[in-house]
Amino acid sequence: MTLSLPQSLIKGLNARSRNGGGAIDSLVAAAIAAYLDRPLHTLFQVSTSRSLVAGKYAGAITCEKLLEHGDFGLGTFAGLHGEMIIVDGHIFRIEGSGAIFEALPTDEAPFATVTRFDPAVDVTLPAMASFDDLKTHLDTFRRTDNLFYAIRLDGVFKTIRTRAVCAPAPGATLLDAAKTQHEFEFTDCKGTLIGIYSPIFSGAISVPGYHIHYLSDDRTQGGHLLELKTGQVRLRVQELEDFHIALPENEEFLKADLSRDTSNDLDKAESGH
Ligand SMILES: [Zn+2]
Repeated sequence: MTLSLPQSLIKGLNARSRNGGGAIDSLVAAAIAAYLDRPLHTLFQVSTSRSLVAGKYAGAITCEKLLEHGDFGLGTFAGLHGEMIIVDGHIFRIEGSGAIFEALPTDEAPFATVTRFDPAVDVTLPAMASFDDLKTHLDTFRRTDNLFYAIRLDGVFKTIRTRAVCAPAPGATLLDAAKTQHEFEFTDCKGTLIGIYSPIFSGAISVPGYHIHYLSDDRTQGGHLLELKTGQVRLRVQELEDFHIALPENEEFLKADLSRDTSNDLDKAESGH
């Protein structure tokens, strides 16, 4: 497809692209999608899970920029300073102490995954007794193991166990950091779970399987989901067939040795407690 555009628009596009707006193709696609009110089913990720496991926590993108790529997602903050959850276009930081703040536009993330949430599934699920039980239900709403999915659950949780990372000493790997994380247990609470399902084959760059973060409706409780018992909950699911990854250009990332398969460490750090 070839388009003729006025010179002024071409200049504007080039300028935006040079100033960190990304490739011209994706700028044009995003502009047309916004004009037609057709969200792109794109998952945008910054950096890789493997560099996080290797202890590379330097900020690679600001929260302000992250929100240009979506209104839904999860990740962590520079220095591994808390868990990130993005709900309805707002980014929250869940600190190791358990305190929760809305992130500043200038706060930075070393790793994050976002999308513009446009669910095709919207159903009510019955009460579930465990995370495994929830996974079994979620599996029935995926037609394949080989695409990414955005998952949102809203409702009442009988119990919910989360963790939040504490900023570790420089040089600590993700597994070291996981040893000093804090765990929280909440009962009879109302809130939102934001999750991404990533295919197993994407394990070097993503967190394979279901990766879910929690935030209560009153914004006082949250974290990376470890276990739960639910009441009746609303489930929304979006299939994502387009995956974009932005790799950091900072020295830390460029010089990191990311050749080792660290999937066992990642699994322990994400599910360990
Ligand atoms: Zn997490």
